[in-house]
Amino acid sequence: MTRDPKHDILFEPVRIGPKTMRNRFYQVPHCTGFGAEKPGSQARFRGMKAEGGWAAVNTEEALISSDTDYWPVVSTRVWDEDDLRNLGLMCDEAHKHGSLAGIELTHGGVHADGRESRRPSLGPSQLASDYHPFVVPKVMELGDIQRVREDWVRAAKLSRDAGFDIIYVYGGHSYLPLQFLSPFYNKRTDAYGGSLENRARFWIETLEEVRAAVGDDCAIAVRFCVEALGPAGVELDEGIGFVVLADHLVDLWDVNVGSITDWSKDSGASRFFPEGYQLEWTGRVREVTAKPIVGVGRLTSPDRMAEIIRSGAWDLIGAARPSISDPFLPKKIEEGLYGEIRECIGCNVCIMKAEWGNHIGCTQNATAGEEYRRGWHPEKFEPAANADNDVLIVGAGPAGLECAIVLGKRGFRRVHLVDAAPEIGGVMRWVPKLPGLGEWGRFLNWRAVQLDKLKNVEVITGTELTAKDVREYGAEIVVVATGARWSTDGLNAYTHSPIPGADAALPYVLTPEQIMLEGKVVPGRRVVVYDAEGYFTAAGLAERLVVEGYDVELATCLERIAPVTDETLEGPMLRQHLHEVGVKQRAGFLAGEIGEGFVRGTDEFGEALELEADAVVLATQRLSNEALYLELAENVEDLLAEGIQAVYRIGDCVAPRIIAEASYDGHRLAREIDAEDPSIPLPYIRERIILESVAIGS
Ligand code: ADP
Ligand code: SF4
Repeated sequence: MTRDPKHDILFEPVRIGPKTMRNRFYQVPHCTGFGAEKPGSQARFRGMKAEGGWAAVNTEEALISSDTDYWPVVSTRVWDEDDLRNLGLMCDEAHKHGSLAGIELTHGGVHADGRESRRPSLGPSQLASDYHPFVVPKVMELGDIQRVREDWVRAAKLSRDAGFDIIYVYGGHSYLPLQFLSPFYNKRTDAYGGSLENRARFWIETLEEVRAAVGDDCAIAVRFCVEALGPAGVELDEGIGFVVLADHLVDLWDVNVGSITDWSKDSGASRFFPEGYQLEWTGRVREVTAKPIVGVGRLTSPDRMAEIIRSGAWDLIGAARPSISDPFLPKKIEEGLYGEIRECIGCNVCIMKAEWGNHIGCTQNATAGEEYRRGWHPEKFEPAANADNDVLIVGAGPAGLECAIVLGKRGFRRVHLVDAAPEIGGVMRWVPKLPGLGEWGRFLNWRAVQLDKLKNVEVITGTELTAKDVREYGAEIVVVATGARWSTDGLNAYTHSPIPGADAALPYVLTPEQIMLEGKVVPGRRVVVYDAEGYFTAAGLAERLVVEGYDVELATCLERIAPVTDETLEGPMLRQHLHEVGVKQRAGFLAGEIGEGFVRGTDEFGEALELEADAVVLATQRLSNEALYLELAENVEDLLAEGIQAVYRIGDCVAPRIIAEASYDGHRLAREIDAEDPSIPLPYIRERIILESVAIGS
């Protein structure tokens, strides 16, 4: 394939200060859960993107001193030389592939609650953090201001010495420099408060000192939300005003929107934000600077990227999520492999997984975060030692699909992917049809294209297999990926029992699949959707039914509606949206009995409460479809005698989990199916050994 010449502009080199990027693809800083604590994962994760064509790769926020401590959120730390030694591995990886490495030096100011360091947070004024309202900072005295500037310079020098090419004086997301700039945080009456020039003083002084220290060797970048889209920062006119004041000190403007409290507007979920949505604000920065600008907005369309560059709005295409979902996005565009691009679906599961000390993962890219500890490469697949076998995969949901594709790429003689349903996809046949989740359909689209290309993988739909069918199929290896189903009797986490009267065989009790797949009619007008899980299913069904004209009450036994969507930055906007479309919301309601016309239970204070309901939709918990696997596993001797060497199970039929985990399960089995014993996990402790050897070996 050759690339469309209109995309050539994306592959022009760009100079930023003393450094040159080989093309216009820039991985902006983003969280991983790796920090300096997991240096192998950090290095290989960023290195993979460099290999995939990102001309610059950055760390997540890197805390400049113990004055700023976010534990248990894992950020990169630049507290001592050992941290930098660990991060140096990332620089080596980036440089190996001809990319620049950047470090997002950060001070969180009022928001850093010092749980590990036991130091008070610092702020321009003594105003409680809007992010952690129980945290009240110490007002920064002139000595504190000077110390923080010195810490920034020290961190910048250490970073340069470790090999970083781009040094940030990051303001955020309403972190310390932006707190000084913002009248919402800064009520000072001295030289650091009042006019825009005074509020900009701390940031500008820090920039001057950092530039004087490392500006000849490194590019100096500023990242900040030019429009807070809420109170916690600055509005666009002041954002642009700051660009004017600081422009002479900056080599790269990395601009976005929102704040840490309103981060949902920066890392916008596809449910609410279309591709390129930030341009409305960040596109205005060009009016006042000729310096390179990078912006973000979940961009995956090469046409759109080229258009933005041609318009002059930005010089670089920034990405966090599109680079997680497809580390090889630039290379694929460069080589014209457009159909291969694994586009981000905007689900924000990467954020759910990377925050609070977790390890990053991705719904679309099962290898994300596993580059080091499992040695996975998203585009390279070793031929399997046992490839001269036939594999039967039962179930073409996220687990079965991913497994089939990887087995196909590993060269198995024949892979049959069989599903009882008329189409492939499992849960992904209906989840993208929930309101707002249309972009999630990309998960299935990409896999359908891959399956089409793999001549050794055959897809057979509309065929339900029994254990007898499986045994007679003739495949040497069997993978059971039969998924999970929603409970039909209201079994739930709170009572660990069915709800009396709940039975989806009744016309007025329904499960999500009955509505979305089986076309069961929801009777009457008043519907209670009862949620004991807290993620997207119940909320999605409630919205769908309200749009269809039902009078819907979304009731949950949880403390608030859809709390899991808070972890994907959707929660507050989702609750607001449900309110606006007319879904009544009731948290803290524990259902105790369902009957014709009612749901009886207790409210959040334990008082009896009856909700009127012509129909009740139950989204309480899912259960694994494990019967097929268990029946096969019962007769291991017989299976061996019949020539079946192994039976595995993967995905939701092991335990119902999020789509990213089901897909990961399928990927992992396919990668490890020729390992000596694929049931034994590869050593997770490898990370720790490297950490120690880096420290000891110096
Ligand atoms: P996962 O997320 O683990 O991939 P899903 O529930 O999304 O699970 O998908 C499971 C798929 O398995 C569904 O498409 C379902 O139709 C299919 N399936 C379940 N049991 C059988 C069976 N006995 N024969 C064929 N297909 C099956
Ligand atoms: Fe995109 Fe979802 Fe992957 Fe994050 S987890 S990169 S939002 S597909």
